[in-house]
Formats: sequence, C-alpha cells, structure tokens
Amino acid sequence: MTPDGKRKVLIISAPSGAGKSTLVSHLLEAGLPLMFSVSATSRKPRGNEVDGREYYFVTAAEFRRRVRRGEFVEWQEVYRDHYYGTLHKEIERIYGEGKIPLFDVDVMGGINLKKIFGEEALSVFVMPPSVEELRKRLIRRGTDSPVKIEMRVEKAASELLLADRFDFVIINDDLEKACTEIMRIVTEFIGQ
Ligand code: ADP
Ligand code: 5GP
Repeated sequence: MTPDGKRKVLIISAPSGAGKSTLVSHLLEAGLPLMFSVSATSRKPRGNEVDGREYYFVTAAEFRRRVRRGEFVEWQEVYRDHYYGTLHKEIERIYGEGKIPLFDVDVMGGINLKKIFGEEALSVFVMPPSVEELRKRLIRRGTDSPVKIEMRVEKAASELLLADRFDFVIINDDLEKACTEIMRIVTEFIGQ
C-alpha cells in the first residue's frame, strides 16, 4: 500500500543499452518505498547473478510448466529460447512487505503490464538519444558479443516506435538530468 492506499506498480522499459538498469538502480537506492520485482527466466545466470536476487533461474521446461499452471502475470520470449516472466506470487510478496513493485521488463512486457494494471501503473520508457549512441553504449558496456550487440540494436529500432504507448518517455542523454527527471515523476506518482 502507498500513502494514498492504492496498490500501485512502477513499470520501466527500454531498448537494451538505453540505460534502464542504471536508472532502476538510482531509484532503488533513493529510499523510496519501491521493491525490485524478481522475474523468472530460463536464461543462465551471468557473472555474479544470484538466484532469487536478479532472477529466479529455472529451466525452459520448468518455465513452460509454470506458464501452463497460470503462475505468470505476463511473460515473453525476449530473445530466442530465453523466456522471462513476472510471477503473481512475486507481486503478492512485495505488497506483503508494504512496498510498490518495480518491474524492469522489455518493451512488450511493459505495454502488457500497463494494460493489466491501468491507472494503478506508471509506465516509463527510457529513450536513448539515438540508435548510434545506443550501439556505442553497448560496445562500451562490454557485456555482449558484436553479433549480440547488432541483434539488440536491430530490435531497438522497432521498440523505439512503441515509446508513445508509455505514460512517460525519459530521454537518457545527460544521465544526471535523466535521474532527476525520473525521481520527480516517480515521487509524484507514489505521492510522497
Ligand atoms: P540497459 O539496462 O538499458 O541495457 P544500462 O543501464 O546497462 O542499459 O546502460 C548501458 C551502458 O550505458 C552502461 O555501460 C551505462 O553505464 C551507460 N550509460 C547509461 N546512461 C548513460 C548516459 N546517460 N550517458 C552515457 N552512458 C550511459
Ligand atoms: P537480461 O537477460 O539482460 O537480464 O534481460 C533481457 C531483457 O528481459 C531486459 O529488457 C529485461 O528488462 C527483460 N525482462 C526481465 N524480466 C522480464 C519479465 O518478467 N518480463 C518481460 N517481458 N521482460 C523481462
């Protein structure tokens, strides 16, 4: 519950490399009553990722079983053979702690969650200054192979066309400005 007694949710989506994780971390460290919604995924853990912290890591067969059991609010095959989904149980866990779920989801997931939660949801699209800058950021980040970077950039071009389906678009050019703007929008939404 929030100060005004509503069960709100915050949705943040962006093409890969736009700066979504950077802005999500900023929000989570700001002391707002937000809690990161841990999704289930069938992709393998990377680097320091811990089961139950970044994701609930499951096999593709287990993921499909959970889909059949109706355990997901929404799910997507974000990349080929890599499933990601938001669990009903996770949202209840977060409300149980008196917090607002923060969904870090892909663009289609963001649009679907907004349809489900309607007025109770604030959906934010993080926009890179350009596709070229997006490519440069992915190269600088150094977490993906050149082939994967091109796949992400290609996907981004179609995702950018969906920005107007979100409540707010934040252009992440100057990071400090983007942080200030997202804080302003989210604080107002939470009602604090
Ligand atoms: P996403 O989660 O959307 O894939 P990240 O938050 O990982 O994106 O950001 C991609 C890369 O770009 C990271 O290396 C990050 O440090 C960098 N970055 C984020 N915002 C900016 C910005 N405004 N200007 C320059 N680099 C940025
Ligand atoms: P990564 O593999 O880099 O952690 O995530 C790939 C993409 O999947 C990111 O855009 C991330 O936001 C998205 N994602 C993570 N969890 C979910 C989810 O539950 N649903 C949807 N639709 N996308 C998700």
